[in-house]
Amino acid sequence: MSTNQQQKTEQAVQPLDRIAIGRHASIVCIICNVTLAAAKALAGIAAGSVSVIADAVNNLSDASSNIISLVGFQLAGRPADAEHPYGHGRYEYVAGLVVALLVMAMGLELLKSSIEKLIYPSPTNFGILTGIALLASILLKLWMMNYTRKVGKQISSKTLKAAAIDSRNDTLTTTGVLIAVLITRLTGTNLDGWAGLAMSAFVIYSGVQLVKDTVDPLLGHAPSTQKVEHIRRRILSYPGVLATHDLMVHDYGPGRQFASAHVEMAAERNPLETHKILDQIEQDFLSQDGLHLVLHYDPIITCDPEHTDLHNRIARRIRSIDPRLTIHDMHVEGSVNDTKAGAAISFDCIRPQGLPMTNDELREALNEVLKPLIGNSALSIVIDEGYLHIADDINSKEHEHPQG
Ligand SMILES: [Zn+2]
Ligand SMILES: [Zn+2]
Ligand SMILES: [Zn+2]
Repeated sequence: MSTNQQQKTEQAVQPLDRIAIGRHASIVCIICNVTLAAAKALAGIAAGSVSVIADAVNNLSDASSNIISLVGFQLAGRPADAEHPYGHGRYEYVAGLVVALLVMAMGLELLKSSIEKLIYPSPTNFGILTGIALLASILLKLWMMNYTRKVGKQISSKTLKAAAIDSRNDTLTTTGVLIAVLITRLTGTNLDGWAGLAMSAFVIYSGVQLVKDTVDPLLGHAPSTQKVEHIRRRILSYPGVLATHDLMVHDYGPGRQFASAHVEMAAERNPLETHKILDQIEQDFLSQDGLHLVLHYDPIITCDPEHTDLHNRIARRIRSIDPRLTIHDMHVEGSVNDTKAGAAISFDCIRPQGLPMTNDELREALNEVLKPLIGNSALSIVIDEGYLHIADDINSKEHEHPQG
């Protein structure tokens, strides 16, 4: 299937269907994981095996992340109320955090048991039941891997795609435990402590990941570079869009993500048409990404050679301070060629990451390098923080638009 066709099938799924399908898949995963955890916990206790019990706890942690994603799908369809205008998504992150800490605590407990088992070896009684439980677990996880991958693609859900990767990892770890069980059974060398050690380390690692997944959004972390790039590229793909800047993303929990961005379009275009395109972009983001996007329209003068020329010369000149510096939202009142009164020029400048000067120093440096160009014109500069802006090559479309 080509990317285009795939995009079409992904777009064909209606938002409400998407929620229903995602919810259904999450419930299937919860049932599978809880069943696996229970079966392996019983088999592990019967055999006195720390590694099999650790494997069971691992599935329990999967079940809890399934629950978090289930609530995520649930919330995506529910409106906010007056007291919580941004929805209730953050409660779910708090619930997820509690579960994650629990998983980590169990992982540490299992780590302790594994080390004890290595120091004071106690017999492990692996029977045919242990083998069947582990083998069934591997087969079920293989099925879950294919299932979540397929549904994840169908409704383009990151959570389900992540669940597919997790199922693949679980197939490998359980295979490891099964091999240890077989070696122990066949050779008499008891590997249970070692397998338990590896398995509990994996459980602790999963717990740390879960904590990270839940704490990051609670602290209001910066959106991932991929996400910013995805939003930017999508906005730029619409007709008439020249460039976009000042993107901000706020994450209030699953299905409660808000963003705002400025979109540059030719000032000479019909305003009704321009507004229609901007509305379309907002609607598409809501229905396809569940992202509430608000766009601000920046009209760009493309038919005034003097304006375009001034913009290009300023943009070129400021690169002597740092080649990554870019400007946007340039407004000019009057003319720089008016040697008596000068003009009033204002623009935003994006401060690149790691620039070794303060905002005031940057503003001073900009005034300095632009002085010869603009004479006695007044200059007003807004410095935008660069942490939400990414590589310059995608700040604007690949072809040079009239302002450079
Ligand atoms: Zn702007
Ligand atoms: Zn509108
Ligand atoms: Zn700006």
